[in-house]
Order: sequence, then structure tokens, then C-alpha cells
Amino acid sequence: MSDGPRRDDKAVGERIRSAGGSTRAVHSGERDHQDTDAVTTPIYQTATFWFENSAKLRAFQEGRDKRDEYGRYGNPTWRAVERKLCDLDGAEEAVLFASGMCAATTLFFALLPKGGHLVITSDCYRRTRQFIREYLVKLDIETTVIEPAETGKLANALRDDTSIFFTESPTNPYLRVIDLPKVVEIAHARGAKVVIDSTFATPLFHRPLEYGADYAIHSATKYLGGHNDLLAGVVLGSAEAIKPIREAAGVLGGVIDAHSAYLLLRGLKTLALRMEKHNSNALQIARWLEGNTAVRRVWYPGLESHPDHVIACRVMQGYGGVVTFEVEADFDGTCRFIDACQIPYIAPSLGSVESLIEMPALMSFWDLKPEQRLELGITDSLVRLSCGVEDAEDLIADLEQALESI
Ligand SMILES: *Cc1c(COP(=O)(O)O)cnc(C)c1O
Repeated sequence: MSDGPRRDDKAVGERIRSAGGSTRAVHSGERDHQDTDAVTTPIYQTATFWFENSAKLRAFQEGRDKRDEYGRYGNPTWRAVERKLCDLDGAEEAVLFASGMCAATTLFFALLPKGGHLVITSDCYRRTRQFIREYLVKLDIETTVIEPAETGKLANALRDDTSIFFTESPTNPYLRVIDLPKVVEIAHARGAKVVIDSTFATPLFHRPLEYGADYAIHSATKYLGGHNDLLAGVVLGSAEAIKPIREAAGVLGGVIDAHSAYLLLRGLKTLALRMEKHNSNALQIARWLEGNTAVRRVWYPGLESHPDHVIACRVMQGYGGVVTFEVEADFDGTCRFIDACQIPYIAPSLGSVESLIEMPALMSFWDLKPEQRLELGITDSLVRLSCGVEDAEDLIADLEQALESI
């Protein structure tokens, strides 16, 4: 009896790569490791890799044998995650990191020359701004800050020596959505690279590389992992764009461990299911909040009232699970509302199966003076809700009883 036909791995790979988001989330990257026929990718819990003899080592050094050498440069478990994320974001290459911050800081170190210049938006992740303010200045790197909505001002902010325009899209906490085709055209005309942190959207809802951005980055700690059990980050782009990032990652050493990489791989398989639920929960809750008299204002890109709704419809396939709103209350009243919520945890972060709720004034922006907070638009009555995958009716009923306690 014959062993049956040989499977064409290349054809399987191509079919998966051209499949829908959910199919890619489940299958991409998983079939390259197979010596054991295990369905799941093993956790290669090893710091280093051995060579059978010096001829094999030589073949590796001369680039004839593509394999792993030492844990800071590569590991089959994290490579499987990198392949999966590449297929989801439409990238050629990805580099996985120990956290989202590590992804961003390594990218800055890799791309910015001493005395260089970058442009960022004002509601950029706080620690990223801190890194720029406290660390990049040591390399005499200058930064211009523009409002996310003012893409018109980008042209004025760019200089001949600008290497990078860096922004989130959607941004935090107001979920501003960048008009990416326009931004890419303006930045590229001046020779600046465009880096988009699309953590809030995930590659299922927004793929910056498809609009010509040079790099997409994510904190995989959020939706990509999805279960609040790991920290990770990723930078994606073309093979050429990723080369200096991988070099820098190997030197700076902020690599993910194999166990976290496995948890990320596992989380990613249900990304499409989770995002669908996060999205529909958030949309229902945003609409409900908008019709509630105890709520002053709601920001959600899926609402027609959001300033970037039209752009979001153009560049996104979903709006994500985060809803930001202001309640009709002062600081203490807003605390009472948060405390009265029984289902969401009071916690930083977003993008997990559990709903999380927080007051930006009391959480991420607490160390600022009240007037500095107001300058950034962070009022005392602002609330950020990361909608989990619970039942929408339960979340709405919980918010309803909590709003009564203001
Ligand atoms: C959380 C977050 C980060 C930082 O990621 P970590 O994984 O916590 O280091 C960066 N950007 C955005 C938009 C985030 O939400």
C-alpha cells in the first residue's frame, strides 16, 4: 500500500495566506515546526540551540542553513507567532518583543539618528511620550507634537531631517482615527517613514501597511493575546524595513520568552471571534450610553457623532471594543459610578475577554497636575470602558444601575 500523496506544503501555505482573517488567525505559522505531527506548536523552552558538528555551524554561518542559533535571535515558537501576525497584517516580516513598549522603543532606537527629528500626535501612549522626553533627548533628538485631527498641520511639522511620523490609530482615549492615505502621502513626500500603532484596532479591523504605512506596531498584551495573561509587542513591515529592527532587537535584547509566545499563539486563534463580540458589544453599549441622560458625551468611531466616523468607515473594518464617555458628575461622582459597576474590573489595559473600566484622571494621567490633564483633554468625569466578551445585556444592565449611583 502506498503512503498516500505527498502534501504540498507550499500550496497549503498559499491557501492559508489568501484565506479570510479568521482562517489565518487559526492556521498561519502553525505548520512549519512539524517533526512530531502535533496539532499545536510546541513551546521550545530553550535558551540556545546545538550544532551537530562544525560543518553544520559553518553552513549556518554562511547562510546555507536557515535555523536557530541562540535564544535572543530566534526561537521556533515565537517565529510561529511572527508568521501568523505577518499573515494577519499583510506584512513580509515581523519582530516579536517582550512588550509593546519594547517594540516601540527598539523601533525608535533603530530608526532615529543622533540629532534627528520625529513628529508624534498629542494623545500618543503616555510611556512613549515619556521615552521621547526623557531618553531620546539624550541623543539630541527633537520632537514636534501635533493634534491627531490636524493632519493638515503635519506638512508644516515635517522637516528635511524628519525620519518618522508616529501615531496611534485609533488613539487613546478619544479613539481618533487617522486619515492614513493622506498622512502617508504627506509624510512620504518629505521622506519621513510612517509608523502606526494600531493596538486598539488589531489587524482584523485596520491594516496600516495596506495604506502605505512603513511600519505597523501593536501591544500584543491587549487584543492579540486577549486574556490578560501575557505581555508582548510586535513591529511589522516589509523585509527591508524590518531588517534594522531585527538587528536592534538582537542587540537590545527585549525578546519574548517561549511560554508567553505560546500563550499569544493560542490567544490569536480566537482573535476573529473575540473581535466580533468586542465590536458588537461596544457598538451596542456606545449607542445605549449616547441615549442616557446621565452621560454627557460618548466617543466611539462607530457612532455617527464621532468626529472621525467617516474616515473610520473608510479605513477600518470594525471599530474595536473601547468606548470612552463622560458622565454627568464631578470627580467624586465619577468614582462612585466606577465603584458601583459590578461586572467590569477597575484596571488599566484593554482588549481582554473581561471588561475593564477606568477613569483616565485617576489611572494613567494621575501623576499630572489637574491643569496639565485638562490641556490633554482629560476631564474628571471621563471614563474608559474596554468592553469584554460578556453578554451585552448584562453589561448594559450593570452600567444602568451604576449610573443611578452618581
Ligand atoms: C498598552 C499599550 C502600549 C504599551 O504596550 P505594553 O505591552 O503594555 O508595553 C502601547 N501602545 C498602546 C496603544 C497601548 O494600548
